[in-house]
Amino acid sequence: MPSAGDVIIKIEDAVVSYREDVALRGVTLTVRRGELVGIIGPNGAGKTTLLTLVNGLGKLLRGRVEVLGYSLNGGCPDILRKRIGYVPQIQNIDPRMPVNVWEVVMMGRYGRLGLLRRPGSTDRQVVDCMLKLVGMSHLASRPIGHLSGGEQQRVAIARALAQEPDILLLDEPTTGLDRRARVEIMALVNEIHRSRHLTTLMVTHELRTAAEVCDRLVLMKEGRIWIQGKPEEVLREEILDLLYGDEEGICS
Ligand code: ATP
Repeated sequence: MPSAGDVIIKIEDAVVSYREDVALRGVTLTVRRGELVGIIGPNGAGKTTLLTLVNGLGKLLRGRVEVLGYSLNGGCPDILRKRIGYVPQIQNIDPRMPVNVWEVVMMGRYGRLGLLRRPGSTDRQVVDCMLKLVGMSHLASRPIGHLSGGEQQRVAIARALAQEPDILLLDEPTTGLDRRARVEIMALVNEIHRSRHLTTLMVTHELRTAAEVCDRLVLMKEGRIWIQGKPEEVLREEILDLLYGDEEGICS
């Protein structure tokens, strides 16, 4: 069993392309157990694609990916998939969707349950516990489409945590939320990361808050890791000017 500080994600010289678009152009990254790593950069830089490499969905043209000691070059072994929780970008959910908050979080258990087993009391307890952790117990029976964006994100985080993962991947968890909800979600991610001893990779455009909560920031541009290090080392004005060019509207 790896201990805190061991390298548990190792990406070497990864090249990924979607037909004519090269999304990653030789990315090398290691992440140690217990780190909270923020991945930032302009649109199209390859940030989401980098996450897909860690959860085994990325198609490598070249390079190597190893997560928790398993090679992902031949796809993601089932045993590993359960250990990686994924919170996708905020989705538009049809308000008529006949599924409530509790049932959505239970979906996070299915990877552990397998197809044939029905949820037992442990599974129900885990779902209750994760809803409590994200502050959503009081809305457990509400239809999932009847929530605010911030509440939906909390449920998405609870669903990923219900898997009881070692690694948590979040793709822009605050996009589209108002300022208050953005601050609350970032604080929740930080708290959960520390209290559940996770290793967390978070794609975000929230530079200022990311600097406060992340142990390390990875700045990406044009399919490459451009610079990485402690937030205070990399979030310097001259670096950000070069990273984003003249782009406006960088979240702060
Ligand atoms: P954003 O901040 O806009 O979400 P990103 O940094 O996460 O961007 P990616 O989504 O990884 O960037 O995309 C990297 C490149 O790969 C882009 O040029 C994008 O158009 C392309 N790309 C991503 N997904 C696909 C896909 N499924 N099919 C074709 N091209 C894709």
